[in-house]
Amino acid sequence: MGTQTGFEALDAFFALVSFAIGAVVGSFLTVCSYRLPRNESITNPRRSRCPKCGNTIAWYDNIPIMSWLILGARCRHCKQSISWQYPLTEATTAVLFLLVFWRYGFVVATPVYMLFSAALVLVTFVDLTHWEIPDEVTYPGIPLGVACSLVAMFYPASGLFVAGPPSDALVLSSLLGVLLGGGSIYLLDKLCLILLKKPGMGFGDVKLMAMLGGFFGWPSVLFILMLASVVGSVAGVTMILAQRRRTHGEHRQERVPIETDDEREGLPEGHYLPFGPSLVFAALVVMLFGKDILGYYGPYFGI
Ligand SMILES: [Zn+2]
Repeated sequence: MGTQTGFEALDAFFALVSFAIGAVVGSFLTVCSYRLPRNESITNPRRSRCPKCGNTIAWYDNIPIMSWLILGARCRHCKQSISWQYPLTEATTAVLFLLVFWRYGFVVATPVYMLFSAALVLVTFVDLTHWEIPDEVTYPGIPLGVACSLVAMFYPASGLFVAGPPSDALVLSSLLGVLLGGGSIYLLDKLCLILLKKPGMGFGDVKLMAMLGGFFGWPSVLFILMLASVVGSVAGVTMILAQRRRTHGEHRQERVPIETDDEREGLPEGHYLPFGPSLVFAALVVMLFGKDILGYYGPYFGI
């Protein structure tokens, strides 16, 4: 009994550490998500600046989540509002790191999936604000995913999750995942172009799905596409309905522009949906619960 509570205390401690590391990484991601699409250096200037007044932010005003709350969502110097997207990104990353630790514990997969979660948070943030998926994530992400399958194949205790039929070499499943993932989105996009006469998804989504296929194997690609389609449709309909309500009703109320609004000009007309965040959501579900999900529906498909 005594040792068990000792382990629980230790687990709780490391869960807390995971959360804290996640918050700090999330804070770094907000810097990346601001600078990457603007082609600015991530490391120079080293200190963050207020995007409105340009003043350097002191370390004590840059504590993830806390500072935003303490400062009342306002810059100390210019008193202009700081976007809620910053603490949200930090909190999301922190929670994801905590979940990864909770699901995996002390194995190789834990730091790998923490990095993976961080990359996907960045993808979501940049896709929602700039309507693009950073190549800085997907280009190294694709070979990294395949490399993980190699590790999972020869060192199962790593905890890395790659789905494949029992007879399949996991690397093969991963490589097929890259092809099936990238290929399916590419074909969907071409189909949209022919049927709807406008691009459905960008090439960024093709590379993102290829990366996800590389990480989790081809059977996971099918699940991710299914779940992402459901999530994307629900989100899309909600967005269209919300937009309609806004244009029909509250004409008096000016829409408050978020700081990246200027970047949105020159976008394709119509209800363009960022599919990236839906793919990210589905991928995170697979990362956390893939073993259970594919263990459940996999046998029906001989997986
Ligand atoms: Zn300021």
